[in-house]
Amino acid sequence: MARILLIILLVLVVVLALTGVGMWGYNQFRPITVSVNGAEQRVSANTSLGKLAADHDDFGAKPGKLLSVSGKVLKRDGGGPVRYTLNGKGIGDADAAKDAGAAGSAKSATTSNKGSAAYGTNAPIDLNKVKLPENAKITVKDGKNLTEQHDVRRTMVPFGVSVNGHGVIQKLVQRGKQGVKEVWIGKISGEQVDKGVVKEPKNVIVDTFSPKPVTHKVVALTFDDGPSQYSGPILDILKEKGVKATFFDVGNGAAAWPQFEQRMVAEGHQVASHSYSHPDMFKLNPDQLRDNITQGLANIKAASGVTTKMLRAPYGNFGPNQWLQTSDLIDYNVIWTVDTEDWKKPGAPAIANAALSKAYNGAVILMHDGGGDRSEDIAALPGIIDGLKGQGYEFVTIDQLMAMNGK
Ligand SMILES: [Zn+2]
Repeated sequence: MARILLIILLVLVVVLALTGVGMWGYNQFRPITVSVNGAEQRVSANTSLGKLAADHDDFGAKPGKLLSVSGKVLKRDGGGPVRYTLNGKGIGDADAAKDAGAAGSAKSATTSNKGSAAYGTNAPIDLNKVKLPENAKITVKDGKNLTEQHDVRRTMVPFGVSVNGHGVIQKLVQRGKQGVKEVWIGKISGEQVDKGVVKEPKNVIVDTFSPKPVTHKVVALTFDDGPSQYSGPILDILKEKGVKATFFDVGNGAAAWPQFEQRMVAEGHQVASHSYSHPDMFKLNPDQLRDNITQGLANIKAASGVTTKMLRAPYGNFGPNQWLQTSDLIDYNVIWTVDTEDWKKPGAPAIANAALSKAYNGAVILMHDGGGDRSEDIAALPGIIDGLKGQGYEFVTIDQLMAMNGK
């Protein structure tokens, strides 16, 4: 009896085992449907993408070519492999899709570029390990043409400048940026190919204008060449009269009289730069020009904590060439429209008369609080403020004046 039971048990085990093997076998070899470039194919379920590709000779698709830098064919099948996608996902040519474009700095230099040919280093996914699911959607395309490895010789393309319009304020609207030219030198072919300008330069663009306030009459009082011992009495008068002004300060003066620089800021005036040492900027070479502006701005920052990018060039001498050299340093160059000619020392009444007779809405009035004996300015200032107030003017800084343009 026990023996019969044992036999039945063994038979059951064998039947179950055979059934399992049979189902496994069926799963491995049952036919499934896949589509290649839209055409249906019947394959057995264990078929890999690699086998399918080999059986159909890549469905007529070819590897890409390896090209020289001038575009000559170096190796007919030396480019990227035939490209497969499975259910929308790329397979096997991830490395080959890299572009030939060389990134990097625009300094004049030669750099090595691997090109787009991941030549000999490409390790695509093994298509034989890619199983095909039921209803797989496969696409096949030719491989990409790749360019040989090459050195890239870069040279800079200088930018230009355009200063447009007329008026008292020059405002930078675009900084200059160098462009880049490239020559590619093929490592296999030895060819040199001029790729021309691969990055266009950006010109310096400066707009010139005169603010036109429309709601009420304003003037901007400006003082140049300070700070100096004359700045204190001028600040006293402005404070007493409740008037804000703009000081275009010389860097070495700011270093010598930081207490006045700080007082100007504390009392609500605008401080801006009048260079470091008051040179004629038309006569400076590019390095001297940049140094003088940089040091002037730095001294104002050191004395007062104010970061300004506004310049009034000494004598107003600042043209396209100066903008070309310094567009990364300053945003504004501000001149003046009413010259009191105080520098001629004509006497306080003449200075006051010049300001009062020449003022108009939006005028930028030039006076001085340094660079010589400014006692005539001190004597003239109360009358100038009172007289202009009597004519209905309000006093604004240059920043305020610009903000009122058309308002
Ligand atoms: Zn000056």
